[in-house]
Amino acid sequence: MNDAPQTPPAAAGDEIVPTLPAADAPTLLVKIFGKDRPGLTAGLFDTLAGYDVDVVDIEQVVTRGRIVLCALVTVPTARGAESDLRVTVHGWAESMKMQAEIISGIGDNRPRGEGRSHVTVLGRPLAPEAVAAIAALITGAGGNIDRIFRLAKYPVTAVEFAVSGAEHTTLRSALALEAAARGVDVAVVPSGLQRRAQRLVVMDVDSTLIQDEVIELFAAHAGCEEQVAEVTAAAMRGELDFEQSLHARVALLAGLDASVVDKVRAEVRLTPGARTLVRTLKRLGYQVGVVSGGFTQVTDDLKERLGLDFAAANTLEVVDGRLTGKVVGPIVDRAGKARLLRAFAQLAGVPLSQTVAIGDGANDLDMLNAAGLGVAFNAKPVVRQAADTAVNVPFLDTVLYLLGITREEIESADEVDGTPTD
Ligand SMILES: [Mg+2]
Repeated sequence: MNDAPQTPPAAAGDEIVPTLPAADAPTLLVKIFGKDRPGLTAGLFDTLAGYDVDVVDIEQVVTRGRIVLCALVTVPTARGAESDLRVTVHGWAESMKMQAEIISGIGDNRPRGEGRSHVTVLGRPLAPEAVAAIAALITGAGGNIDRIFRLAKYPVTAVEFAVSGAEHTTLRSALALEAAARGVDVAVVPSGLQRRAQRLVVMDVDSTLIQDEVIELFAAHAGCEEQVAEVTAAAMRGELDFEQSLHARVALLAGLDASVVDKVRAEVRLTPGARTLVRTLKRLGYQVGVVSGGFTQVTDDLKERLGLDFAAANTLEVVDGRLTGKVVGPIVDRAGKARLLRAFAQLAGVPLSQTVAIGDGANDLDMLNAAGLGVAFNAKPVVRQAADTAVNVPFLDTVLYLLGITREEIESADEVDGTPTD
């Protein structure tokens, strides 16, 4: 309703009487504040119905049992009607023990500026200093805060600002540094149909969908954790690329009994909120996939358990009931992950711009950059800086808030389904 043009479009030969006030027509803003109770909204509009006015806009907010109800209406034209309306509305409000304010003005709401974004702020807890800093930066970037509302109070406090008048890329860079300094997560997503049209989510597995690094679970069974850790450290120092380090680590598993695969599957710990994220996305009609530099022996099982649409990873070779220390098939590395995101998008019939990728490692960077929205999840600083958005709380379902889905919607969908929310 805030987007309404100031003057109704011309409709030649159309008999419909325009209901919007002209830009220079006088209007009344009727504001009611007080303790919320049933029947207030009906009561106010019943009172207004006694006058020849049109409703231009309505906004209502209830916070901890207190209601703010604003009605923007045209001014009644009959002689003396406006002052009569004022007296009647104040009398009604008094009888309801509410405060009323009636403000004269001109026209409709100012049209919202170009460049609209949703700024989601996640805090645990959310400090007033952080809100102040973010609001000041939005204003500093030329943005106007049009609305603010809470998306969730659990497992984090999530608040969404609807902002207009600033480019989302400008906002994103302005807010990213401040967010990190304030210990909150801030996501800036451009508004519009695109946001609602996102239809494919692709996640990394190790340290994203699950809390573990699968190679380390295998290494523990092979008694070579230290050697594997050494190779990992060498790779992090840049001495080995991903493929070299993968081969070197898998080679250490040679001879391991294949029955270990079942043990590792049982040891894998899902990240808190992982089930809620996948279940909610599936209900909303999203397709969900995983890509992993780990192993299909684990990702296939996760695909089955969580009802995922796509899964791809490296495959440990098994011969005569033992791991050979080799992988078979094409290697899933950094470039491979981005390639798989594109392949999944094609299979899902979704343009890349409508995909979301989530990951924590340098290996995920190409995929995060290729996706419509790249979310760095509890990632290392290098990944965090390169991604659109970073989430640094250890709950995967907070990604839903970035998509504008509220906790209330998640929980009521679970209730309908009889599924306990995790
Ligand atoms: Mg990872």
